Amino acid sequence: MRGLGAYVARATSGIAGAPHGIRILMYHSIGDGFAGDSYGLSVKKNQFISQVKLIKANFSTIPITRQGLDSAPRDRLCVGVTFDDGFADNFEPAQILFDAEIPFSIYVVASFIGKPRYLSGSQIRELAANKNCLFGAHGESHEKLGLMPLDQQKKELESSRKMLEDVSGSPVLTMSYPHGCLSQTTMRLAASAGYELAASSRPGVNRASALDWYHLRRTEVQSHDTLSQFEEKIRGYYDYLGYVYTLRYRAGKSGQYVK
Ligand SMILES: [Zn+2]
Repeated sequence: MRGLGAYVARATSGIAGAPHGIRILMYHSIGDGFAGDSYGLSVKKNQFISQVKLIKANFSTIPITRQGLDSAPRDRLCVGVTFDDGFADNFEPAQILFDAEIPFSIYVVASFIGKPRYLSGSQIRELAANKNCLFGAHGESHEKLGLMPLDQQKKELESSRKMLEDVSGSPVLTMSYPHGCLSQTTMRLAASAGYELAASSRPGVNRASALDWYHLRRTEVQSHDTLSQFEEKIRGYYDYLGYVYTLRYRAGKSGQYVK
């Protein structure tokens, strides 16, 4: 897989020119893993420290906001860092990002706040006090928005935003879709609920000249990524996998995008 990715990246580099665009990384838990994490969603702390150093040394970083993406440099790759679900084990690693002055977003499931393994209200307020930490919504129930009736989607989008604003004391203008599941209706409802952007799980790099504000692409970081694979992911060596995803969802075979 890695060899093919490198081959495709080399083969297409002449067409695409120097790599540029906005690479939004998607993390979940930072720690020693949890029961049932066969997918590798929990990245070890030492691994995370090395990844942050690599980002700091090689890439510009931007906050995932309208303003951040609008002002992203167009002539090179830049990186945004996001976390889904609001795991309590994001609290300590957040300090590593603060020290490196790398902005990041945590998309919190509103009904999980304060539950075992998830960030508490006071932890959220403490992190939100630093300008480099932005909180966004991730649904109220963590159920798949794209599969819900319209009224229920609308309620989830509005209630999760309100609950998180009450806890954090800050405006909530961004979100990510639970399980990456959305439809055209979900995107429209997210815009009318007052979100300025929404991050999906659609892989690939975002082009600054053609941003899909309610379907932003993200690149998942997994526990089995070596440091060089992590850098290759940022540089787009695996983006060809996104074409497979696109073909699958055009064919209605992806569970993440609902027609
Ligand atoms: Zn989630």
